[in-house]
Amino acid sequence: MELKLISKKEDYSSRIIKIKNVIIGDGSLVVIAGPCAVETRDQIFKTAEFVKSQGASILRGGAFKPRTSPYSFQGLGEEGLKLLKEAGEAYQLPVISEVMDTREVSLLAEYADILQIGARNMQNYSLLKEVGKIKKPVMLKRGMAATLEDWLLAAEYIASEGNEDIILCERGIRTFEGYTRNTLDLSAVPLAKDISVLPVIVDPSHGTGLRQLIKPMSRAAIAAGADGLMIEVHPMPEGALSDGHQSLNFREFEDLMEQLTPIHQCLRK
Ligand code: PEP
Ligand code: MN
Repeated sequence: MELKLISKKEDYSSRIIKIKNVIIGDGSLVVIAGPCAVETRDQIFKTAEFVKSQGASILRGGAFKPRTSPYSFQGLGEEGLKLLKEAGEAYQLPVISEVMDTREVSLLAEYADILQIGARNMQNYSLLKEVGKIKKPVMLKRGMAATLEDWLLAAEYIASEGNEDIILCERGIRTFEGYTRNTLDLSAVPLAKDISVLPVIVDPSHGTGLRQLIKPMSRAAIAAGADGLMIEVHPMPEGALSDGHQSLNFREFEDLMEQLTPIHQCLRK
């Protein structure tokens, strides 16, 4: 695989990415949390306040949603981005949101601190090149049928346009297993970190699609060496407009956060 820019160098150093007061890739554990989609002001502000109080350091919230059905909730668009940014500012949390279209890259860059490329767009090369031209970090989710090589080469596309602040996100791949939404490939974490300089975040919410797997897979992701996690959290998952079945409520998120620090500390010793 020909990786010129993102490949591991002889000194084994990793890329450290700074987003306001948050650092990804320096050995600390970063938790990105928030709803699948921004729905209302109350929903995003309540979630931001709670996840901040539990130690999350970045707020997520989709505004342009890639939904499998055109009849499902598509996100609030620019209004959602505004609410996300306001909530992030209110609780000192940098924010991340997905960009789906080359025509919306500058709009996203206006509101979000990190631009997310979703699994469905991992091989949208025009979009990769477009986010490669901006000066904000990009989180590249692994495509649902992408090999490790496809994924790293997609990251190389972004880097080749000048933007090397790339965060990889393992979010599960499609396999014959139908019980889970996706099969979370935790072996990709140490592999990607071995081959590339980029930090790797694990998303057990989309990676499993099942609420009860989020906690155990989060623990495993940290044990596998992930630089952080991305967790879907909603004040009332039963009423969420998207991905409620894989979102944690506040009590569950609190419980999860309590379990992470000891595992992370143990690994650093
Ligand atoms: C998301 O994180 O909002 C999302 C849509 O995830 P994925 O692209 O991994 O399906
Ligand atoms: Mn989601």
